[in-house]
Amino acid sequence: MRKYLIIGVQGSGKGTQSALLARAYELVHINVGDIFRWHVQQHTKLGALVRRTMAAGELIGDDLVEKVVRDRLDQHDWNYGFIIDGFPRNRRQAEFFLESYDIDGVIHLDLPDDEVRRRVLARRLCPNCGMDYNLIYDRPAEEGICEVCGHQLVRRADDTEEALAERLRTYHDKTDPILDLLRRKEYVFTIDASRSVEEVQTSIRDRLALPPADSER
Ligand code: AMP
Repeated sequence: MRKYLIIGVQGSGKGTQSALLARAYELVHINVGDIFRWHVQQHTKLGALVRRTMAAGELIGDDLVEKVVRDRLDQHDWNYGFIIDGFPRNRRQAEFFLESYDIDGVIHLDLPDDEVRRRVLARRLCPNCGMDYNLIYDRPAEEGICEVCGHQLVRRADDTEEALAERLRTYHDKTDPILDLLRRKEYVFTIDASRSVEEVQTSIRDRLALPPADSER
């Protein structure tokens, strides 16, 4: 059983790196932001509660976030383990989690703010099929059009200059300090996230001392 948290500023590649680890080691990938986005898209009651907060790039209340994480883990579908992406984001969430669950490591993806801005402002998403693109290194063949389904690409509602500035401020204010807390427990593996997807993935696996995945032998 392998249980990890992955922490990093927006655009640091948490989603991509978690998905690769999850596929290789059969971990359940829990992306807290995606759970909330699903609720917004499906117009659920919870979605209505969080829509504005998310669009402004602010954090959702801890009670709600903790409930979502607890409910997801209570499904116990993680026979080989899990990787949680986008949580914890402040001290209270970290303390809640450490009191209730044990973990094997915290992957910290480190990326300077300038590079975050460059990457995030170039992100585009297909609202129809969910495929994502990046205008710097993963452009669609036809500008603004999804290569999979032909739908017009959009920006995520919180990938604007203003919302990004707010998310960076919140990250440095609230999330940076919890890394110190987790570091004291010797859980944290800091990885330079400015390199290619493959290099970052290799580095994560080295630092976590993961064996080659069965599916890749
Ligand atoms: P993300 O996709 O991880 O950037 O999350 C998108 C948005 O979802 C954030 O800007 C918050 O509004 C909300 N969110 C996701 N995870 C958390 C969390 N752990 N605590 C509070 N809000 C969160």
